[in-house]
Parts: sequence; structure tokens; C-alpha cells
Amino acid sequence: MIRVPARVPGHDYEVVIGDNLLLQADAHLPGLPGAEKAFVVADQEVASRYLEPLARAIGRRSLTPIHIPIPRGEEAKSLQVADALYRQLALQEAHRADAIVALGGGVAGDLAGFVAATYMRGLPFVQVPTTLTAQVDAAIGGKTAVNLPEGKNLVGSFHQPVAVLADVSTLTTLPDREFRSGLAEVAKYALSLDPDLLEILEARTGDVIGRERSTLQEIVARCVSAKAQIVAADERDEGRRMVLNYGHTLGHALERIDSFSGRSHGEAVAEGMVFAAKLSEQVGVARPGLCNRTQRLLKSLGLGGGGSLPSAEQVLEAMRLDKKYRAGMRFVLLEDVCRPRIVEDVPEDVVRETLEGSP
Ligand code: NAD
Repeated sequence: MIRVPARVPGHDYEVVIGDNLLLQADAHLPGLPGAEKAFVVADQEVASRYLEPLARAIGRRSLTPIHIPIPRGEEAKSLQVADALYRQLALQEAHRADAIVALGGGVAGDLAGFVAATYMRGLPFVQVPTTLTAQVDAAIGGKTAVNLPEGKNLVGSFHQPVAVLADVSTLTTLPDREFRSGLAEVAKYALSLDPDLLEILEARTGDVIGRERSTLQEIVARCVSAKAQIVAADERDEGRRMVLNYGHTLGHALERIDSFSGRSHGEAVAEGMVFAAKLSEQVGVARPGLCNRTQRLLKSLGLGGGGSLPSAEQVLEAMRLDKKYRAGMRFVLLEDVCRPRIVEDVPEDVVRETLEGSP
């Protein structure tokens, strides 16, 4: 078991990473003074596998576990589903000391976190992530949100969890595509921030894609630690946190063009990292070789060759719609692996040329 502290000013919490952690979740839940109930938000797929051990552990803490089911998939991140959750909490007489527990992927976490942030002006919130994406990224950092028809994550809040329990044994039941999507985020940390993680991915690829549990614990802990450090320095995403967006500028644009139904988030971010590496070389920030190494790594993780890109004009238009777009094209580039640099005002022509030179 590995414990990683997340030191967000005023909201310190611990991320516990372990194998079969759900069975002993009671030992790792923080004190919840005055709480009588724990509302577990989970879709049916996840609940059928993991609700029972978690509910038993919650019961051992003298809390009544109450499951609130949500639909599966991104559609659940809506104001309508949030409204249904609020009504359930009211019907079940939730009070301000009771806890909301997100059990599942980033969708359950973002939605339940948003409801926890807003119901009665804030309830304690526990994250129990069961996807690789959620364990290494979504469950850490306190960003919560729902979508509007006009765009993703447009309504949200910062609400830090009181604890995160990441059980890597849950990752063994994750469909392949979801697992690979999470590996793209892992590769992001490895390429942009953590040379030891990069070495694990390059030297022990078989263990990583074979989901060997001690390797999973190690990689999840390294990603959590990298994200927690950055979030502690910039909770509100006003500066340093931007480096976590490596590969995401193009990634988000591709998802927007696909209307979130084509490439998985991970596949889009993988494309985005190859592009960012190419752009780093193109503008002279990095020496040649970065892009090849990036492509090699992603291919070995099953993330190579996502097909052809849309036209450069389409991509540029989608980039301009990004909510993080300000005047000018701002990118997280790499001087070398693990040496990120935020570059403002990359000329649009260079971005276009690099896009046109992409497969
Ligand atoms: P997801 O939450 O939709 O989960 C993917 C699917 O996997 C679901 O159908 C779920 O039922 C299933 N599933 C979950 N755990 C399983 C398990 N252990 N075994 C079998 N099936 C399982 O997808 P995701 O990739 O985890 O999350 C994506 C969401 O996270 C997006 O909405 C994105 O915006 C958000 N996100 C948020 C942050 C943040 O900082 N808050 C960061 C990254 C992503």
C-alpha cells in the first residue's frame, strides 16, 4: 500500500493506493464527524462489481451506505442527473455532515463531486476511483463539473475530496480500451514530468500492459504524486497546473471535432502528445528525436496510429473554441522528456504547417 499526501492549502488529504483496498476501506476512510450516512454514487456496471465490499466496509464504520445509481457514460454528467441526485439526497434526508462517495470513473467522480460541492453548500466527499484515468488524474485535484449541450465541464466547482482510495485490483476488470485510454494519461506524466515513470513504462512495458498489480500500484502512485504536487502549488489552474495539459490542446480539439464519440479521450491525448512533440521540434524548443521516442512509447502501450487527422483548418477552428484558449496559441511543449515549457503565442502558421505535416 502506498500513501501519497495531497497538500492543498486548507484541504490536506491522503490518496491511498493499494491492492484489494476496497475490502478494508473502513481502515482508510478519514474521520467524518457527525456523519450517519454515506451516499455512494455509482453506475450499475461498477456497482454490480464493487458496491458490496465498499458498502460492508462503510457499515463497519457505523455509517449507513446508500447507493444512488447513475446512468453509464458521459451523458450522466448533466444538470438533469445532478438534479435527480439532489432530489434523492433530500428524500433520504441527507444532512451536512453526511458523506458523498464517488465509486467509478471520472464521470462518477466529476458528477458526485459537483453535487457534493453544491448540495447544502458542500458535503464531505470521498473518491473511490475504479478506472485508470480516474486513479491517475480525475480523482485528484478537486475539479468537479457537469456538461452543458454547448460544451464539456462548463458548470463546475473546485471541491477537494477528504480522501481518495484507489484500489488497483479494480483495474483488472476494466475494458481494454478504457485501460489504454488511462495509459495515455500515464504516458503524459512520464513524458512531461517523471523520468522514473518513463523508465518503468519503457523497460517494463509487458508488466504495465499485463496489468501486473504491483506495477500498477507503482505507476498510479507516481502519477498521483506528480499531480498532487502541481495541484498543491496551483489549485485553481492559474499557472503551473497548465503543464498537466501536455497533449491536451490538440486532444481536446480532436474530441470536439469527433463530438466526443470517435476517439477515446486517451487516444486523442496520445495524438496530441505526438503533435506537441513535433511542434516542440518544429519551433526549435526540442532537439530532433523527441517525437520518435514519444511515438515509440505510445505504440508500445497500444496507443499508436490513431488514423488520419482532420484538416488543419478544422483543427485550428476547434482549438480556438477551447475554453482555455486566450489570444494566441499557447502550448505546453517539451525541451526534452520531463522538461515542460509553456510557450505563449506559437504562430498559427507554424501550428498549421505542423498539422499539415502530420499523418
Ligand atoms: P467513465 O467514468 O465514463 O468510465 C468508463 C466506463 O468504465 C464506464 O462505462 C464505467 O461503467 C466503466 N467502469 C468503471 N470502472 C470499471 C471497472 N473497474 N471495471 C469495469 N468497468 C468499469 O470514464 P473515465 O475515463 O474514467 O472518465 C472520463 C471523465 O473524467 C470525463 O468526463 C472527463 O471530463 C473526466 N475527467 C475529469 C478530470 C478532473 O480533473 N476532474 C480529469 C480527467 C478526466
